[in-house]
Amino acid sequence: MTRSITILGATGSIGASTLDLVRRNPDDWQVDTLTANCSAHELAKLAREFGAKHAVVGDEACLDDLRDALSGSDVQASAGVQALCDAASRPVDMTVAAIVGCAGLGPVMAAVERGGTIALANKEALVSAGEVLTAAVARHGATLLPTDSEHNAIFQCLSGNNLDDVARITLTASGGPLRTWSDEQLHAATPTQAVAHPNWSMGAKISVDSATMMNKGLEFIEAHHLFPVGLDKLRIVVHPQSVIHSMVEYRDRSTLAQLGPSDMRVPIASCLAWPKRMKTPLEPLDLAGIGELSFFAPDEARFPATRIAREAIEAGGAAPAILNAANEIAVAAFLDSQIGFMRITAMVEDTLGRYSAPAPGSLEDVLGIDAEARAFARQSLESTALV
Ligand code: NDP
Repeated sequence: MTRSITILGATGSIGASTLDLVRRNPDDWQVDTLTANCSAHELAKLAREFGAKHAVVGDEACLDDLRDALSGSDVQASAGVQALCDAASRPVDMTVAAIVGCAGLGPVMAAVERGGTIALANKEALVSAGEVLTAAVARHGATLLPTDSEHNAIFQCLSGNNLDDVARITLTASGGPLRTWSDEQLHAATPTQAVAHPNWSMGAKISVDSATMMNKGLEFIEAHHLFPVGLDKLRIVVHPQSVIHSMVEYRDRSTLAQLGPSDMRVPIASCLAWPKRMKTPLEPLDLAGIGELSFFAPDEARFPATRIAREAIEAGGAAPAILNAANEIAVAAFLDSQIGFMRITAMVEDTLGRYSAPAPGSLEDVLGIDAEARAFARQSLESTALV
């Protein structure tokens, strides 16, 4: 049976992996809407190829380019934040949420409010909006399918089990490209070095998050909301081979793990086919070829991000949204060569120390906190007090 699909963030890395699977199974999917921020030509090309009904750019300044690139086609073009939310509100069988950053929150909330089934890659939306988003999911009967490889692994390991029987959930972390670097090398790390992930091919922002370990910090918060077993039952272990994507230990001391190639098409396929399975073009896992799986405790002295994130979710309220906003500003500044690598997490901690707000109760509250936290983080860009 053909199902309809909307891909928010279609021009990104997750978007490309999703569209690769759709391309291989053309009879299974009818593409409704594809979105981007400003990659108008790429978006138009994809919209034409997949016969999308709508193409939306977040940046209104890019609408003319999109219209030009779509001329002569039947694809409807629109632009702006409200257009993204309108696109996400249209009824489809599956919405893939793959916009990067808190910019994806409004559209994710729009998909939730129509009670949709959402493959959620956009972790920043859940980190920032936490309880506001999960309450909306429950209120509107929406379904969130975790697409992040770790959370998808946990979701699979929990299948058929009871959350009350969970003793511990272990998120695995590759440790990123700078895992073995000295303090001195970390201070001098360049954007090119930080985005050169050894196992995964991803967008620039998540690649930097992976290098600082903030990605694992965000995932710790994400796991807390998706799998409410209590913070004391969540832990992180560094596993450089990225073969085990995460594990669930039960109270009988049985541990279930999900293994697979380091390719996002595996967890995306798990979401697209859920609750069934679909074929992917990937090679079978060659464990003898891999040879060795190793595990280490995170080094929070050199990579403090997981500690900062854990403290933020323990504090609760507005802290996770502030953490996420400051991190987005800091990562963008690093990628723009305005600050050094070690200053990313320093800026996040500094912002959390200088700005606080009451716990958000609505989407508007979260977006307000996000905007204010960004302003505080930008101030510290001008300060020389941080290394
Ligand atoms: P990319 O940077 O590759 O792609 C981001 C997408 O979002 C692009 O389509 C981009 O459009 C769009 N976008 C960016 N900013 C805005 C905005 N302000 N408004 C609307 N659209 C916007 O990111 P990834 O695909 O790597 O990551 C997407 C999300 O998935 C992130 O939250 C990430 O943490 C998560 N994720 C990614 C994984 C991966 O392997 N890549 C793994 C697990 C989770 P444009 O091209 O026009 O800029």
